[in-house]
Amino acid sequence: MNFYQIIILIIVGVVSIIAVRISFKFDLNKYLENRRKIKIEQLKNICPHGRIIKINNKFAFESFFVSPMGTMNYVCPRCKCVVGKEDVDRINEIYLTNPTLVFKKQKEFIKRAKKLKII
Ligand SMILES: [Zn+2]
Repeated sequence: MNFYQIIILIIVGVVSIIAVRISFKFDLNKYLENRRKIKIEQLKNICPHGRIIKINNKFAFESFFVSPMGTMNYVCPRCKCVVGKEDVDRINEIYLTNPTLVFKKQKEFIKRAKKLKII
């Protein structure tokens, strides 16, 4: 092996190390981004899409769902979950009969949302 071959070998080595590092970094960022997306997606299942309010000493469930102009769908401004009218009614029904579930989900939602730094 002569001098030039050694130089070439070193250059090839350095270039391949850089290439591996760049691709690893790239994949890691993509992985973290995907994981974040999945976690935000999971928040939709935890979000209670409303809150418990007290009216005349009675507890009621107040839905967060709003129907944007020009659509038939309802969207939860908190978790960006999009559902139809039947789902809104179904969700309201569940939480109206089970207020403790709302508190439980609310607590969990805030905990996870803070971790993801979205609230
Ligand atoms: Zn929601």
